[in-house]
Amino acid sequence: MSVYMVFGEATPIDSHGLKQARLRMVQDHLMGRGIDDRRVLEAMGELPRESFVGAALRSHAYDDRPLEIDCQQTISQPFIVALGLQTLGLTGDEKVLEIGTGSGYQTALLSRLARSVYSIEWHHRLWEAVSDRFKQMALSNVHLRLGDGAMGWSDESPFDRIILSAAASMIPPPLEVQLHMNGKLLIPLGDSNQQVLTLATRSAGRWVLTRICDCVFVPLKGPLGAGHV
Ligand code: SAH
Repeated sequence: MSVYMVFGEATPIDSHGLKQARLRMVQDHLMGRGIDDRRVLEAMGELPRESFVGAALRSHAYDDRPLEIDCQQTISQPFIVALGLQTLGLTGDEKVLEIGTGSGYQTALLSRLARSVYSIEWHHRLWEAVSDRFKQMALSNVHLRLGDGAMGWSDESPFDRIILSAAASMIPPPLEVQLHMNGKLLIPLGDSNQQVLTLATRSAGRWVLTRICDCVFVPLKGPLGAGHV
């Protein structure tokens, strides 16, 4: 029986139980499905995902699925987060742009895996909550901004990596020029119902797109996104 479900109701779960659930997530949902980047596995084995969801969902923090956060957005499924981070091939030396801060969970992972992280969020409430959380966590290499991530962060470009956590029908043109010549960009490409997680790299001046997997992300807001909200 699950240690954190009784009759389908979330019950309080202590920090030992959460740690056990976190290690099971790493074993079963990440390593068990082919994630083998040691740094990604270590970071996800250490960072408490329960700190990034509301109190009512804490006991579900290690379920193998996306969870609701504020503003009708979601914190992505752990496997998809791990696959995305692994695909970026981070060594610890990169300057990363993240579009869609959301709960800040992936941002906090990136802060451990890269040199510096610039993350943009559309919703004021989410941006404010993550700003407070990161002040408490004293993350010194993370910079947050409120706005349309599709426009990028030109003052800080070029970036070695760009990762979008919201879906678009094409790579937003402002981001194309903000990626370092040998950089990598990860984006869910498609419509608002279904996308393909796609790795975009540039080689000899042209884009090379590699299909990673099918996925469903929330639509990127604004004129350049899949949602056109
Ligand atoms: N990686 C996040 C997932 C958040 S879901 C996490 O770990 O929690 C995607 C996020 O993208 C949402 O918070 C949504 O508000 C944000 N978003 C959508 N369109 C955006 C845009 N144009 N610019 C910045 N953020 C955007």
